Amino acid sequence: MSVLPNLYDLSLDALAKLLEQWGEKPFRAKQIYRQLYVERVTDVDQMTDLPKALRHRLSTEATIGALTLDRMQTGDKGLTRKAAFMLPSGEIIESVLMIYPERATVCISSQAGCAIRCSFCATGKMGLLRNLTSGEIIEQVLWAQSTLATIAAESDDTQPTALTNIVYMGMGEPFHNYEAWWESVQRLHDPKGANIGARNFTVSTSGLIPGIRRLADCGLPINLAISLHAPDDALRTELMPINKAYPIQDLLEATRDYTIKTGRRVSFEYVLLEGTNDSPEQGEALARVLRDGPMKDRPQFMHVNLIPWNPVPGTPLARSSRKRVNAFQQKLREQNIPCTVRVERGTEIAAACGQLAGADDVGDPTTAETVISLETLRTGTR
Ligand code: SF4
Repeated sequence: MSVLPNLYDLSLDALAKLLEQWGEKPFRAKQIYRQLYVERVTDVDQMTDLPKALRHRLSTEATIGALTLDRMQTGDKGLTRKAAFMLPSGEIIESVLMIYPERATVCISSQAGCAIRCSFCATGKMGLLRNLTSGEIIEQVLWAQSTLATIAAESDDTQPTALTNIVYMGMGEPFHNYEAWWESVQRLHDPKGANIGARNFTVSTSGLIPGIRRLADCGLPINLAISLHAPDDALRTELMPINKAYPIQDLLEATRDYTIKTGRRVSFEYVLLEGTNDSPEQGEALARVLRDGPMKDRPQFMHVNLIPWNPVPGTPLARSSRKRVNAFQQKLREQNIPCTVRVERGTEIAAACGQLAGADDVGDPTTAETVISLETLRTGTR
């Protein structure tokens, strides 16, 4: 059985080539591209600027989108929404939309499962099931945009109606699927496409140095977040086996080079696990590594983001108490390392950092406040 091309998988050039093969005029590609990313049309019949024959051909020989909304949960009084999507191949991926007073952020997946297998992460327990295509990544962002539009249409609140931030921090390691990830950024950033500013993107990596080096050369000011999670190699390897390939010193050297080349600040993510990596001594050790290591001359180019760990069943790990979080943060501040504690979102629907597992085996779906129909989300109307 042949698989029909998903229009979200095609760049404007690729779309133009397909239409050329079909004997269509070149400007038709631009029309379709605009319908997909500016008008956010999800049904070919709504592309009324196209001739009927072309619409028919598109509807029979291509698809718009590949994801099927499997379920939707809301938390934080409706301000956090987690969507579970089924891929055509049957795997489940998840995306989380978080609405704040002045911004709206979507956290999206780049892979189904993840090969990196960090010990504190629900996704890591799944192993890698498969890479997402660029279109499957992009469609999660379009879902967030449609969801926001739906919420805004129904609410009198002055909450954001447009998506402001896209973070590649959902399921998977984006740099392990670099080509598709990068294509998704280009299409979402393209002024002729979704036209989202480069500074509104954040990519999070477990520390794949080749990816960091490629990003440094990409020419777009995308924000980079690096998962550190430990002050020394022994513990980091225990928590993140990838550390064997890319140990802390090498990672910090690559980070330094990145900041020199791009002039951009990097965020170090540090998930706090009680009794594992959150002692005051470990806080001091982390401060030393950052202050005296390869980043020593570049303190203004780094920021530590402390993340209280979110529960994942089946691990012996525990969440740090607020007191220990504060004490850890204090140790970094004493050494003038810029440091904040991440605001928590979506814990009760297993939508928080490290909890995405594509199944109901984490979190309690009964706490979800509402379930929204697939049609509502696909079309952005109700
Ligand atoms: S934390 Fe990120 S890189 Fe590590 S296993 Fe989870 S999804 Fe993969």
